[in-house]
Amino acid sequence: MSLTKDPELLYADEGEEKNKIRRGTLYLVTTPIGNLSDLSERAKKVLAGVDFVAAEDTRNSAKLLAMFDIKKPMVSYFEHNKRERGTIICDRIAAGESCALVTDAGMPGISDPGEDIVKLCAERGIPVTAVPGPCAAMTALTLSGLFTARFAFEGFLTTNKGERMKRLQYLKSDDRTLIFYEAPHKLKATLADLYEVFGDRSISLCRELTKLNEEIIRTTLGQAVTLYSEREPRGEYVLIVAGQSEQEAAENAFWSDMTIEEHVAHYIDEGKSKMDAIKACAKDRGLAKNEVYRVINQ
Ligand code: SAM
Repeated sequence: MSLTKDPELLYADEGEEKNKIRRGTLYLVTTPIGNLSDLSERAKKVLAGVDFVAAEDTRNSAKLLAMFDIKKPMVSYFEHNKRERGTIICDRIAAGESCALVTDAGMPGISDPGEDIVKLCAERGIPVTAVPGPCAAMTALTLSGLFTARFAFEGFLTTNKGERMKRLQYLKSDDRTLIFYEAPHKLKATLADLYEVFGDRSISLCRELTKLNEEIIRTTLGQAVTLYSEREPRGEYVLIVAGQSEQEAAENAFWSDMTIEEHVAHYIDEGKSKMDAIKACAKDRGLAKNEVYRVINQ
């Protein structure tokens, strides 16, 4: 088959050559996050074609492979064995075997142990390639109805209360949409903490994505706290939280209770010249320099 490189075509037909399993390569194979039909044709081919599969939970992945009649030798690769097991897997790949890494659901490397083995392969010059597919974070973001042009993925918040509040305080001034993963038994506490730090921002709670009971609740943090005081969280959740708005930024700013004169004086006290203080004040408030100048020279 010819290698088509027609710039008019979005999908180049690169033929069988591109899909041949390469020796000595690690394949990151994305698996469904709920709907079995989301396992791509290419994922099936790669899983059937590699020498072995490294899986976060071998029982789980064995069931997935069995559904597609794929029989493959498997090794486990998870959070608590990733150090020694990663080296063994890399040794086998370096000796010429091909390996598919799969995690429990979704894209390996996103809030699961995939990241470390890619780092190890990079250090050892072992080729890594990806068979992409559904990722809960991206699926939720696109369904959230919130601003998607800029976002920050935070994954799971730490369970250490002090560290968690510190992280949320740090994120409070981020104007990008924030993405969190959460387990159902921790959802109520997380919503309460998000509300305490961020106030009544918009949130989309995306649960059971791609499954029969998929649900997107587009609400505010305050209403979400109330809602979950009345119902028990069930299933898997991605929380999409609006970033800081311009209005919130102005309200939270150190100068929000100062007059323009006090604001300029603050910068002069810090050592700025009068003109630089006017410039800084104008920038903070989104005003033109001459507007600030006029006020302080009235
Ligand atoms: N690697 C995965 C990915 O690509 O999304 C994420 C793995 S992480 C260990 C598991 C978390 O992802 C869950 O606790 C939940 O927050 C989120 N998640 C996974 N599947 C989901 C689904 N179908 N609906 C909602 N959230 C999901």
